[in-house]
Amino acid sequence: MDTIVTRFPPSPSGYLHIGGARTALFNWLYAKKTKGKFVLRIEDTDEARSTEESVTAILESLEWLGIDWDEGPYFQTQRYDIYNKHIEQMVATGHAYYCDCTPSEVTAMREQAKACGKNPQYNGKCRNRNLPKADNTVVRLKTPDTGVTLVEDVVKGNTAFQNAEIDDFIIQRSNGVAMYNLAVVVDDLTMGINTIIRGDDHLVNTPKQILIYRALGADLPVFGHVPMVLGADKARLSKRHGAMSVGEYQKMGFLPDAMINYLVRLGWSHGDQEFFERADLIEKFDLEHLGRSASMFDADKLIALNAKHIQSKSPGELGNHLLFHLSALGIEAQNDAFTQGVIQTLQARSKTLVEMAQAAVFYYSDFIVYDEKAASKFLLPETCGMMTQAANAIEALSDYTQENLEIVFQQIMEDTGLGFGKIAHPLRVAITGTTVSPGIFEMLLALGREKTILRIRKAVAFIQERA
Ligand code: GLU
Repeated sequence: MDTIVTRFPPSPSGYLHIGGARTALFNWLYAKKTKGKFVLRIEDTDEARSTEESVTAILESLEWLGIDWDEGPYFQTQRYDIYNKHIEQMVATGHAYYCDCTPSEVTAMREQAKACGKNPQYNGKCRNRNLPKADNTVVRLKTPDTGVTLVEDVVKGNTAFQNAEIDDFIIQRSNGVAMYNLAVVVDDLTMGINTIIRGDDHLVNTPKQILIYRALGADLPVFGHVPMVLGADKARLSKRHGAMSVGEYQKMGFLPDAMINYLVRLGWSHGDQEFFERADLIEKFDLEHLGRSASMFDADKLIALNAKHIQSKSPGELGNHLLFHLSALGIEAQNDAFTQGVIQTLQARSKTLVEMAQAAVFYYSDFIVYDEKAASKFLLPETCGMMTQAANAIEALSDYTQENLEIVFQQIMEDTGLGFGKIAHPLRVAITGTTVSPGIFEMLLALGREKTILRIRKAVAFIQERA
């Protein structure tokens, strides 16, 4: 088997959406799995709708997902000469021809065909006129009038299209610009693409593209058309179902690995396995298990997977992702031992990185604003003695370890007769400003001795000021 070459050809008229990301992922995984090549191509010939910002947004989202490309990005708008060379070749070999029919003539032909109960289409008038190229000529592909064009598809099986329903369609406009289907085929051919996985909304283009391959005397690639992603109401996924762009999911605190794990399961399966690490996916991905029926996007499932991926990573791996979200909260941190310690205390309790960042704020911000309810319940004058004792004892410790912190607590319990909670609750409010936090010891350790002592003393001062 030749080297597998796949591609992702987004049209840059918006962000990278969930469906596009899934298509990119399938092609990328297949290339990785087979040690093949993955090509990125920007289909920007619709110049009115294509924007630089979209290109940037799409590339950034692919990078964030960890979907890298071996070649490209190519831009179709820089390749008109290549398309035209192929069009000229098709005219020279008699597979295409110039046509000077005006739009109103073509409309009349369509209406006439309709009136006779036939498909409304161009009637082939210029097919054998051998017209030369002129300012007002388009180029049309000579398509067969009878028989079928068979689309062999590794996902959907075979679909036969009646050739009678495909007219001699235009492959180059009169202004010399190649049409979409022609550009796609010439690109796929010249880029050596031999495997095309795409959404089944493109299936209607495939017979036309096959006819172009034939006219160019080229072998067909392997096609696989995957069903669209649906919303919970079984309608095609769209904005009204919630966030559509990959960038939004990044902002909502999803990990790229969770995202690709979720996306791949929207249309591909490996037994009943749900959780996949990236390397695991590359090893197991295949075309045989791409599903024929549409999958529904389920945000709760994505969140559950995200929580699992957060738990399965090391704090170091999560560090840079968390920094992005801390930064959104105005905290500029480093992926250092401190941040990794912080992550360790929050990893098991965070479903998203946004949740984690919010829960981490108190570690970084020394100017705690005490939650009013928490303060009036726990930061009471009678706790000052206990808290001062705790601060002094922690200051005097030879080593700042969990074992030693436990001894400090034990000692205070013995000296004051207070239960564990009566010590831990006020300290928690002193340290975090609230009553919710990771376990007291792991939190104190992650925060570090100096900050711990400072915050306890600050709380004592706060209580004394209020008294
Ligand atoms: N540019 C098309 C799109 O963004 C993809 C075309 C193809 O995969 O052949 O939907």
